[in-house]
Amino acid sequence: MANWFNISCVKATYLISKKQESGLGIGEHLQLAIHIAICDVCKLFKIQINYIIKCSKNHSQEEHHLSNQAKQSIKAKVDEVIGS
Ligand SMILES: [Zn+2]
Repeated sequence: MANWFNISCVKATYLISKKQESGLGIGEHLQLAIHIAICDVCKLFKIQINYIIKCSKNHSQEEHHLSNQAKQSIKAKVDEVIGS
C-alpha cells in the first residue's frame, strides 16, 4: 500500500495520455492526482498536453476556412519552389 501511490514519472505521463484518449479508472485517477500534486515536471507536462489538444481541436474546426485566394497564393508559392 505504501508504494501504491508512489508512481514513476513514466507511469504518470502514460496516465496523462491515457486520460485524454480513454479516461482513467478511479485508482489510476487517484494515483495521477497524487503524483501531479508532488511533481512539477508532470504537472507542466499535463498543462502542455491539454494546451496542445485544445489547439489541435481548434485547428481541425478551422481547417476549411482558408479562402480561395489564400489557396491560390499557397499553390503559386509551392509551384515556384518546386519549379526552381
Ligand atoms: Zn513526475
